[in-house]
Amino acid sequence: MIPVRAYEGRDVAVFGLGRSGIAAARALIGGGARVFAWDDNEASRKAAGDAGIPLVDLNRRDWQTFAALVLSPGIPYRFPEPHRIVKMAQLVGVPVIGDMELFARALNEFKEYERPRIVGITGTNGKSTTTALVGHVLRMAGKDVRIGGNIGVGVLDLERLHGGAIYVLELSSYQLDLVETLRCDVAVMLNISPDHLGRHGGMDGYVQAKRRIFRNQRPSDWAIVGVDDTRSQVMCTQLSAEGARRVHPVSAEYGLGRGVSVLDGRLIDSTMGRAAAPQDIRGARALPGRHNHQNAAAAYAACRALGLEPRDILSGLASFAGLPHRLETIGEFEGVRFINDSKATNAQAAEQALRAFPNAYWIVGGRPKEDGIDELEACFATVRKAYLIGESTESFSRALAGKLEVQKCRTLDVAVEAAFADARASGDKAPVVLFSPACASFDQFRDFEQRGDAFRVAAAQLARRRTLKESA
Ligand code: ADP
Repeated sequence: MIPVRAYEGRDVAVFGLGRSGIAAARALIGGGARVFAWDDNEASRKAAGDAGIPLVDLNRRDWQTFAALVLSPGIPYRFPEPHRIVKMAQLVGVPVIGDMELFARALNEFKEYERPRIVGITGTNGKSTTTALVGHVLRMAGKDVRIGGNIGVGVLDLERLHGGAIYVLELSSYQLDLVETLRCDVAVMLNISPDHLGRHGGMDGYVQAKRRIFRNQRPSDWAIVGVDDTRSQVMCTQLSAEGARRVHPVSAEYGLGRGVSVLDGRLIDSTMGRAAAPQDIRGARALPGRHNHQNAAAAYAACRALGLEPRDILSGLASFAGLPHRLETIGEFEGVRFINDSKATNAQAAEQALRAFPNAYWIVGGRPKEDGIDELEACFATVRKAYLIGESTESFSRALAGKLEVQKCRTLDVAVEAAFADARASGDKAPVVLFSPACASFDQFRDFEQRGDAFRVAAAQLARRRTLKESA
């Protein structure tokens, strides 16, 4: 746990008592603040109470005494409308911050020479993969590394570190909205496409939230910016023009005169102002597809910025095992490969999967995002057939009519069965059943992890049934 002393002796409200809220309350108490915590949900209150967090109904409190409101990133801050509690805080001028800001304040207390370094990573897609990848490469190179934030352990649950150590943090746009003083020694912004727009009041708000990762950077710090979409390109140009920090552009589409590119699986390091000999990274098994090459380029550039040698970074990329639920090969049965990409909760993520695995038997659907799957049309030519599940079954069936052969399966187990049968009968070389839903999971599952596990179980049961039948 990282104690936060910035509020010692003062009253702080903590609203939202999920994992990060509880950690924030503990960190504040550890630093000598008086904490008043609340959650609208009774079960969350009970869990926090059991953990020894003092509860007070913040709806009935005088807000004048609070030095800050620490808000969970899941609770609406500005859009579609601020939560009632946020309004109460704002009415009396109480600053609203998040757990990441508490972490930043704890680190701000360090003297410069003993302050651990921070690598922050954001973007619409690829955050977790890149965070895990950077963490892995650094660890393999012998660095003292902690990985957290929006991935795995909440940031305040990480161990307190000292100079020489490195925190690698995944930062969502919600978390970035609630930071003020965080300074990333290396800030990575991978890509921007429409997602969560409702929470940011539209595209501009979303882009502005992402841009906050570069705040407080100094001339010796680094911005690593993906330049494969227009909005990110604009951001990269602006950052370079500002001259307030050093900038490495990265790309999986363009050969760059300066920065890092991965083209057709070959990484070209131009961070020193001239292109070094291309390095083949196709052996990195956990990083298939162009999107992962973007992640690899960004991770490479971030590690270069931290002073690692190219050969150490390349060997780290090669030994990375990947993350579950992201283009994860869960097994092969009777010549058919099963790929779990449950984390693909929007069309852009699914597009990467369809590009990485052409000719797939594609299981798709769930709670659809605003933009649906229309923008995937360019990939449909290489999809063998779509197996529709979840709430989106009817709307996707209409959207795909005449473009792609579809089967309405509604549930995952039915879809796995049908996709496997077709894949097996196809005579294709190395056919793939690809579960890349392009939708949120909440219609049928608690989260994308539970959904991915359900796919794994469905595939395992199918294999078991067929093996039993064969031996009967
Ligand atoms: P995040 O943490 O940003 O949600 P993940 O690394 O968990 O990103 O990947 C989520 C999904 O997005 C995966 O299904 C993957 O196929 C896709 N994806 C990963 N990296 C990228 C990228 N750089 N660009 C586009 N899509 C990506």
